Amino acid sequence: MQLQDQIVLEERGSMRLKDRVCLITGGGRGIGRATAIRFAQEGARVAVADVDLQVASEVAHELGERGLALELDVSSPESIEAGLERIISHWGRLDVLVNNAGILRDAQLLKMSEADFDAVIDINLKAVFTCTRAVARRMVEQGSGVILNASSVVALYGNFGQSNYVAAKAGVIGMTKVWGRELGPKGIRVNAVAPGFIQTRMTAGIPDKVVEKINERVPLRRMGSPEEVANAYLWLASDEASYVNGHVLSVDGGAVV
Ligand code: NAP
Repeated sequence: MQLQDQIVLEERGSMRLKDRVCLITGGGRGIGRATAIRFAQEGARVAVADVDLQVASEVAHELGERGLALELDVSSPESIEAGLERIISHWGRLDVLVNNAGILRDAQLLKMSEADFDAVIDINLKAVFTCTRAVARRMVEQGSGVILNASSVVALYGNFGQSNYVAAKAGVIGMTKVWGRELGPKGIRVNAVAPGFIQTRMTAGIPDKVVEKINERVPLRRMGSPEEVANAYLWLASDEASYVNGHVLSVDGGAVV
C-alpha cells in the first residue's frame, strides 16, 4: 500500500464525524454518554443534553472544546427550542440528532397506572416526535441531516411488565419508517437502533437470576455495553451508512434473529 493511501485510510478511520454538530438527548448517562464520547472521538462537536445539567456538564467537560452541556427536558417543547437555539448560536448548524432519552415505569397490565403509562409514552415516544419535528425543520433548510432513534429489542418481541415501554419503542420504529420516507427526499436519513439488554443504570436493578435467564436467550450469552450501542449509532451517523434509511439496526447479541 502506498504511504499516501495509508494516510487517507487513517484519516477516514479516525475522523468519521469530523466537525459534524450532534445533539444527543439523555446524553448524561449510559448509552447517551457513551455515544457522546464515541462521536467526539471521531471529530464531532456534541451537545450533551440532559434533564440533569450536572451529569450533562460532566460529560461535556470530558469532551473539552467538542462538548456543550445543555439542560434539556425532552418532554418540554420550550426546553427543546431553547436547546436548539443555543446549539445554533454556538456552532451555527445541526447535523445529527440522537433521540436517546428514555425512562422506565414497569408494571404488569393489571397494576399499571395511567400516570405511568402516560409518563413513558411522553418521554419515549411523544418527545421523539417533538424533538425530531423541531430539528427536522432546521435540517430541511440545510438540505442534510441524520436522525437516529432509540428503540429496543422489546419492541420486536414484547416484554413482561412493559406495556407502556413496548408501545413507545414500537411506535418509534413506526415513526422511523414514516420519517425515512418523508425526509429522505429532503436529504435527511432516519434510522433506529434496537438495543438488547445493555449494562446501564436502566438495567442495574434487574436481579442476577433474571439476568441469567435473559442471557440464556441471547446467542452471545451476555448483556451488551453502552459502547457497543454507541458504535452502531456512530456507523449510522457517518457517511459509511449514506444509503441506509428507514432501517432498524438490532444490537442485541442475536436475541432476535
Ligand atoms: P439511562 O442510563 O437511564 O440514561 C437515560 C438518560 O436519559 C439519563 O441521563 C436521564 O436523565 C435522561 N433523561 C430521562 N428523562 C429525560 C428527559 N425528560 N429529558 C432529557 N433527558 C432525560 O438509560 P440507558 O440505558 O442509557 O438508555 C438510553 C436509551 O436506550 C433509552 O431510550 C432506553 O429506552 C434505550 N434502551 C436501553 C436499553 C438498556 O438495556 N439499557 C435497551 C434498549 C433500549 P436522569 O438520569 O436525570 O433521569
